[in-house]
Amino acid sequence: MPRRPLIAGNWKMNGLGEDGARLAGALRELMTAAPDAPFDMMVAPPFTLIGRVAEILSGSGIELGGQDCHGEASGAHTGDISAPMLADLGCRYVIVGHSERRTGHGDTDALVRAKARAGLDAGLTAIVCIGETEAERDGGKTLDVVAQQLGQSLPPGADGANTVIAYEPVWAIGTGRTPTGEEVRDVHDFIRARLVDTLGGDEAGMTRILYGGSMKPGNAAEFLKLADVDGGLIGGASLEAEDFWAIAQGLPLAISSVPD
Ligand code: PEP
Repeated sequence: MPRRPLIAGNWKMNGLGEDGARLAGALRELMTAAPDAPFDMMVAPPFTLIGRVAEILSGSGIELGGQDCHGEASGAHTGDISAPMLADLGCRYVIVGHSERRTGHGDTDALVRAKARAGLDAGLTAIVCIGETEAERDGGKTLDVVAQQLGQSLPPGADGANTVIAYEPVWAIGTGRTPTGEEVRDVHDFIRARLVDTLGGDEAGMTRILYGGSMKPGNAAEFLKLADVDGGLIGGASLEAEDFWAIAQGLPLAISSVPD
């Protein structure tokens, strides 16, 4: 069964009410004009905007996600948001293990795994982010790092339907720098092979693997045309509806099926 591409936007800590409403409204318009778009689209607004954006996107076909969640469903965790809370707001996805959480908040692989498990328990699809730092790449450790993060961040029960992997080289996030298509292909091939070992061939074949890191309209097609790249996780360029939408045009199957 072919994997349906996913174009996912991570708005990070950006936007007040009106900004989120404008962006969501513009995306809604674009999606409405392309009812047969051959890809899934998801946006992860800041927690404060999820409710408002959910109302605007309702019925549009664009799904919502959280940018993170706690590893437990409820309890004395001041300032945290749980996976059931995200589901309650209408989210279908949760991003876990983003490098900005791993480095800025000390999220370990074990914690990422607990968060992913909490997401699955709440009925969400977990987007599990993995990727090497620049020093790790320069030291020839990219595949070791990716293997370790993948092995230790995936929760029991993960499968092709409830889990998405996002390969995001840390040094490419928000920097305007990207790996070459060949480098992305090599890592995605490697991730797919590791998934075969851990999940089995059928589930591995159904698991979407996204590329993330300075993806823009001008470079998206180079990555999205690769056989094991099943979409993108997009930060900065997801804050402009036209750019985000244009990235989806880089999908080989999308080219003839979306509006001008
Ligand atoms: C991200 O935050 O996941 C990301 C890929 O950001 P950017 O597209 O801005 O590099």
